[in-house]
Amino acid sequence: MNQDILGRLNHVLKATDNKAYHLHEPSFDGGDKDYLMRCIDSGFVSSVGKFIDEFEERLADFLGAERVVACVNGTAALQLCLAVAGVEKGDEVLMPSLTFIATANAASYLGATPHFVEVEEHSLSVCPDKLKAYLKSISEIKDSKCYNKKSGQKISALMMMHCFGHIGRYDELKEVCETFKIELIEDAAEALGSEYKSKKAGTLSRLAGISFNGNKIITTGGGGVVVTNDAALGKRLKHISTTAKIPHKYRFQHDEIGYNFRMPNLNAALGLAQLDKIETYLEQKRNLARKYSEAFSDCSYAEFGLESKDCKSNYWLNYIKLNKPTDLEEIIPFLHKQKLFVRPIWEPLHQLPMYSSCPRTDLKLTEDLNNRILCLPSSPFLSGTQ
Ligand SMILES: *Cc1c(COP(=O)(O)O)cnc(C)c1O
Repeated sequence: MNQDILGRLNHVLKATDNKAYHLHEPSFDGGDKDYLMRCIDSGFVSSVGKFIDEFEERLADFLGAERVVACVNGTAALQLCLAVAGVEKGDEVLMPSLTFIATANAASYLGATPHFVEVEEHSLSVCPDKLKAYLKSISEIKDSKCYNKKSGQKISALMMMHCFGHIGRYDELKEVCETFKIELIEDAAEALGSEYKSKKAGTLSRLAGISFNGNKIITTGGGGVVVTNDAALGKRLKHISTTAKIPHKYRFQHDEIGYNFRMPNLNAALGLAQLDKIETYLEQKRNLARKYSEAFSDCSYAEFGLESKDCKSNYWLNYIKLNKPTDLEEIIPFLHKQKLFVRPIWEPLHQLPMYSSCPRTDLKLTEDLNNRILCLPSSPFLSGTQ
């Protein structure tokens, strides 16, 4: 099997030279340096500047969102989403265990507890059917709020994560959340440019977070945004993410304990250059996914991870899913020797020490998937098209 996977990857990547194929490298093939120089020349490199405003506006246009608020990273964006959604200390926040650590940390920073729920096989997103049955058995509604009958804590939000850019059954999750009075928030960190029923990821729910870390589809070095379709919430997000300062010519007055989560102007400048090229990157990513999908179409032991029927994915990370749990400790070092830097999916969060005693559903499939998924080199330039 190792040799067979290598053959299929080589077929797509034409990896005959001794080049290293990383999981996801950023591309700086546009006006990146230009924008950065202009920002430095302006003298405004830090937390105020015109590039921040322009980045927020252009991204809002691209997404079709009412308001976008730039911040230091995707994790901070998710924390802000939860904060303005009213998540309080002691609350429980539903989320997959099969996600990057940021999803859970964002809740923890607010004193809330992650409550892990099971995903579904195809989209790797939270399964609405299992969620509904689970909530029916463990929760009760009091004063229009959902409570965990076992812990007595309020279940205030569900963080749905668009895994590798794929979007799961949003409408069904929304329905479950409405029934149980739970706010649905998108962790769209990986899904910039993905669509669900022709709407962009990040604009499906009232609040969403997107990341521009160096390995994401476009990068600002480090950075993120909160996306909202609620203008009042947008205003509030801007206020609390910028130290809750009351606008004044020279006085420093703040009206609550805000966050210093502002994206620096320098990072926003880089983001603008990257945004200029986003359509190209998205096309390249889909091309690369098509090539991988063809290369694995006749594979007996694994399948390529395809988008679901209502989703147009950005294919941020391509992956294959082995039919049965397999010892990845054999395949991965073998491919790394060939400089193909494949990776497993994240260790399920409920198996990490700090989250091991969190409430959770049965997570058999999550644990299974942990030993079945292999993420493939996915940099946009690997598609061989410009
Ligand atoms: C990248 C990512 C984040 C946010 O990451 P930052 O590095 O803080 O920008 C959050 N959730 C998921 C699922 C991610 O992949």
